[in-house]
Amino acid sequence: MALRFYNTLSRKKETFRPLKKGIVKMYNCGPTVYDFAHIGNFRAYVFADLLRRYLEYKGFRVKQVMNITDVGHMSIDDDADSRGEDKIEASARKQHKTPLEISHFYTKAFIEDAKSMNLMKPMKMPKATKHIKEMTALVQKLIKKGHAYVVNGSVYYDVGSFKKYGRLSGNSIEQLRAGARLEVNPEKKNPLDFALWISNPKHVMQWDSPWGRGYPGWHIECSAMSMKYLGDTIDIHTGGEDNIFPHHECEIAQSEGATGKPFVRYWLHIRHLMVNGQKMSKSKGNFYTLRDLLAKGYNPKAIRYLLLSAHYRTRLNFTEDGVKKAEGLIRRFGEFMENMRTGKDNAKSLRAIKKVNKEFEAAMDDDLNMPRALASIFEFMRNLNKSGGGPKAYQTMIAFDSVLGLGLSDIEAWKVAKDAEPEIRKLIKKREELRKTNKWSEADKIRAALTKKGIVIEDTEKGPRWRKVKK
Ligand SMILES: [Zn+2]
Repeated sequence: MALRFYNTLSRKKETFRPLKKGIVKMYNCGPTVYDFAHIGNFRAYVFADLLRRYLEYKGFRVKQVMNITDVGHMSIDDDADSRGEDKIEASARKQHKTPLEISHFYTKAFIEDAKSMNLMKPMKMPKATKHIKEMTALVQKLIKKGHAYVVNGSVYYDVGSFKKYGRLSGNSIEQLRAGARLEVNPEKKNPLDFALWISNPKHVMQWDSPWGRGYPGWHIECSAMSMKYLGDTIDIHTGGEDNIFPHHECEIAQSEGATGKPFVRYWLHIRHLMVNGQKMSKSKGNFYTLRDLLAKGYNPKAIRYLLLSAHYRTRLNFTEDGVKKAEGLIRRFGEFMENMRTGKDNAKSLRAIKKVNKEFEAAMDDDLNMPRALASIFEFMRNLNKSGGGPKAYQTMIAFDSVLGLGLSDIEAWKVAKDAEPEIRKLIKKREELRKTNKWSEADKIRAALTKKGIVIEDTEKGPRWRKVKK
C-alpha cells in the first residue's frame, strides 16, 4: 500500500515519494521560547513526532530538523510583516531578565516538556540567534536577484517580484491586500512587502550586517536553517494551520526566490486544538500549558494519547474529562500487555495479529488516519482479551508502540493487596475494613494517603487492586 499525505500546496492527497530513495528530509517549525509551550503547541510537536516515527516504521531514514525561535518573532504575527514587540524581549521586560536568560530558560523547559511527551530527539534543533550569518547571506542573495530592497538599514521582500506568492494559502496578492490590516510604512514599495532585516535602535538584540546593525525577521530563519541543514529542497515541512499564512508563504518566497528550486515537496499542517469547545486563550481561562496538566497529576502518556488520537486535520477538542478517559485507556493498554506477556499464542490470536497489522498500516498510510488505526488496535485487544494471546501479540503491540510512543512496555499492571509491601498492604486492608462498616470518609482518607505515596486503588468485584503511578 502506498503512503499518502494531504499536501496543503496541492489541496489533495498525494503518494509520498521522497526525493532521495529511503531518506526523508523533514523540517518542523518549532517553539518561540518566550513562555512555556501550551498543549495546542504540543499537538503540532506530537504530530511531527508521530510522522517521523511512522516514516521510520515504514523503513525510511528521517533527517528531522526543528528550529528554536529566539529572536524576530513579533507579538502581532497574523500579517506577513509582523509588528508589535519581539516576543522574547517582551517576556524579558516583564520578568526583568535579559532576552538571553529568557530564551535559555524556556528552551530548557521545552526540552524537558518534549521528554515528558516522549518526543524523539530531532537530528538538529538550531537556534535563530546562532544563524545570523546564514540569514544575512540569504538576504543578500535575495537583494541580488531583485526580490528584496534596502531602505534606511532595513531590508524588505518585494512580494510583487515573486509570482507564486499566495499559492500555499490560496490567496492572490489582491485578496491579501484587501484582507490585511495594513500599516502605512513609507519605506515599503508595496504595503504587503515584509521585513527580512530590521533596523531599530530600540531592539535589545542587535547584530552587524551589510546594512548596519539590526535583527532578522521571523520568516527568514526557517528558510536559512532548513536550507543549511537539509539542502535547497526538502521532502516534508510541518507546522500549525496558523503557520500557512504568513509564515510558510513567506518561507516559500524567500527560499524559492533565492534558489529558483522548489523549497518543500509536501506541506503538512495540523489543525488547531480547541479547549472546552473554544479557541484557547488566557483571557477565557481555558489556557493550559503542558506543565499545568502535569502539575495536576495527569499521566503524561494519557496527554500524549489524547493529542495524537484525533486525525491531525480535524479539530481536536481538549477537555480534562478527555484526559481522564485517556488515563483509563492507558490502563487498558497496560492490562492487555500484562495479559499477553503472561498468556499463550493460539491459532486465533495469530490470525488476529495478521489482520491488525494490515489494518494499522492501511489506516496510517492513508494520511496518518490515527482514529482508524486506533480502532483496529482496540478491536484486536478486545478480541484477544476474550480468546487469549501471548508473546507474539505482545510484540505486535510493541511494534505499534514504536509509532504511538506511549511506552506500552512500562505501564504498571494492577496488583492485588498481597503483592504490596507490608506498610501499603496494611493500609489497603484497613481501608477495606472501614468500607465494610460504611466508614466512607475514613476510608477515603486512606485512599488519599496512598495517592500521596504514588499508589492508586481501584475497587473491583474481586476486591481492591492497586498499582504504582509513574510520574
Ligand atoms: Zn518556521
